Amino acid sequence: MNQTTAPIADLHCDTALKLLRPGGLERRANHVTMEKLRRGGVGLQVFACWVSPRHRRRAAADRALELIGAVRAEVAKRPGALALVCDRASWRACRAGGNIGVLLAVEGGHACDGAVGNLDTFHALGVRILTLTWNNRNAFADSSHHAGKRGTDAGLSPLGRELVARANALGVTIDLSHSSPRTLRDVLACSTRPVLVSHSCCAALRRHHRNLTDGQIQALAGRGGLLGVNFYPGFLGTQRDPADIQSVVDQFVHVKKLVGTDILALGSDFDGISKTPQGLDGPDKFPDLLDALGQAGFTGEEIDGIASRNALRFLGWD
Ligand SMILES: [Zn+2]
Repeated sequence: MNQTTAPIADLHCDTALKLLRPGGLERRANHVTMEKLRRGGVGLQVFACWVSPRHRRRAAADRALELIGAVRAEVAKRPGALALVCDRASWRACRAGGNIGVLLAVEGGHACDGAVGNLDTFHALGVRILTLTWNNRNAFADSSHHAGKRGTDAGLSPLGRELVARANALGVTIDLSHSSPRTLRDVLACSTRPVLVSHSCCAALRRHHRNLTDGQIQALAGRGGLLGVNFYPGFLGTQRDPADIQSVVDQFVHVKKLVGTDILALGSDFDGISKTPQGLDGPDKFPDLLDALGQAGFTGEEIDGIASRNALRFLGWD
């Protein structure tokens, strides 16, 4: 049964890297392919351009530009199927034309090579989400991986405050998945725009540095933030083995009990995760997850919100 008429919005996939290889979105080894996006009713897919920390200094910005170029080239190859979206007008035009919207993100602030001005370059190419850190700490902020392993957490640096201010001015959403607890606190305190946590889960269900504590989820909700639930079995609760769709539903149920459903969205992390929950191995399975939410007692309106309405409201595109 189809639980929603809303298009599906997925706030994080790592498929950009796969687009550097032949085949692009037709590669059958990908989690995310054109066919699976269509079958799943996806209307908006965020493509994160993840820059490995191996790329340092100027090489990191160049790598980000290479990935952004690969996503843009894939979109350009598929007129009438994909459209790059960066604001309400382009989103509306995309949907009116029956396209799937592609929204660009950069994952890892080190992609800016320590220069706030590089964010302007990314923005000019359509990037509207910046994941402040990846696992590594960078010139702007401390990461959850670093803070979790080393036990030190410097939060946002003075340069990081400049970057957040510039992102706010440009209309680039700051994404705090991978950020350390203090970075999250610092950004919530200084950002003039609501922030995103695009692909994370609940620490109450599994203690992991990548997951958010109940207090962090409450703080995010209190500032009008948005949480995309990650499908990676290593972040999901441990009571079901192997992890399945129900393990993902458990995340939604927990957040709903804590702060309600307005904060909730999808943040699959497809093509960035080595394992997927049983029955949830690609975007074509999103409808099965929404069905499972219905069986768990979520109303049609709540499911519409999770499918995309909450994300579109957050972006100001509704
Ligand atoms: Zn990530």
